[in-house]
Amino acid sequence: MRTCILLFVLLLSLSTNSITGFRFPDPDHDVSNHLLNFTSYSSPWDYFKNFTGCQIGEERNGLAKLKQYFHRFGYIRDIPISNFTDNFDDSFEKALRIYQKNFNLNQTGILDDQTLQQIQRPRCGVADIIDGASSMHSGKTTADSHHHGDSTTKFHSVAHYAFFPGQPKWRPRNRRLTYGFLPQNNLPDTVKLTFANAFKRWAEVTPLSFVETEFYSTADIRIGFFSGDHGDGEPFDGTLGTLAHAFSPPNGRFHLDGAEDWIVDGDASTATIKSAVDLESVAVHEIGHLLGLGHSSVEESIMYPTISSRKKKVVLRDDDIQGIQVLYGGNPNYNGTSLIPSSTTTQSHQEREESSNGGVHNLNIRSCWWAYSFFVVLCYSILLM
Ligand SMILES: [Zn+2]
Ligand SMILES: [Zn+2]
Repeated sequence: MRTCILLFVLLLSLSTNSITGFRFPDPDHDVSNHLLNFTSYSSPWDYFKNFTGCQIGEERNGLAKLKQYFHRFGYIRDIPISNFTDNFDDSFEKALRIYQKNFNLNQTGILDDQTLQQIQRPRCGVADIIDGASSMHSGKTTADSHHHGDSTTKFHSVAHYAFFPGQPKWRPRNRRLTYGFLPQNNLPDTVKLTFANAFKRWAEVTPLSFVETEFYSTADIRIGFFSGDHGDGEPFDGTLGTLAHAFSPPNGRFHLDGAEDWIVDGDASTATIKSAVDLESVAVHEIGHLLGLGHSSVEESIMYPTISSRKKKVVLRDDDIQGIQVLYGGNPNYNGTSLIPSSTTTQSHQEREESSNGGVHNLNIRSCWWAYSFFVVLCYSILLM
């Protein structure tokens, strides 16, 4: 009987954990069922794996396409796309080394396996270098002094958060920003809730609040799923490749590639489709751009440019929090990290939550120990009486 109950509970928990997917423009179909027959998937950048080992002086068929990729994300400037050749030249090597630095790879200047794997990963469509200023791996050092009686302790931490050129930000009345969904997308409530959850993560650490409005055209932030060329000069490329892009403040446009297999609910890592992309993870990242953050070279940060398919990454890290608080200040009700760097700056928000829970756990153990000691002393006293 007990086994039956256990089995029932197990089945119930599994059924509530089912993954629901979403694919524009048919919001009703469940991609986890629809695409079961797909045994392979391809990214628009799979082709780049043919360039393994390619280095300066070599000529490889199609290398001009990889140069276009580097141009798109800000690594090659001052050369018109029409002049790109298949030659691995000096300017390409220079761009490659900056890319390798930004993504914490060995700066070999060669298209090695690690670099090519990174290049092929699905990513955000916003450039890593804007107007020629590379700030992704800037290594800003912040210092802060704390006085403890007579002694002064100095803390240093390296931050990699970045802003758009000119550091644009919102200055909303009542610190409130509105967001609306493109009416033609006809999004189900589950998808809208995913965006609401993503906004909440930024509201927690800033004085800002985000409110949904039905008036799309006048909303501060306008969210829409689009496919291919959609009129802003940044066409989407189908499954994987670029997943979404957003514009710096106070533009407010937030576009997502309608051709992705978006996972709305459940654990993306157990999705049956290899190309499944977690919607909330991408939304949290793009909202960072909408609020004024650029890309960061801290791999664990939300503002890192790439995300693997079937991965959920939604917790803001110290690098994200420090960056956004430089723009907007902190949330007086937030009891996590603040702008003041501490010796635990590398510890994440999540880790802090875990360690604070650990603290509570230890307290309980300590209380139990006192109760146990009291009980032993009491028994001993009764025996002696
Ligand atoms: Zn981005
Ligand atoms: Zn767009």
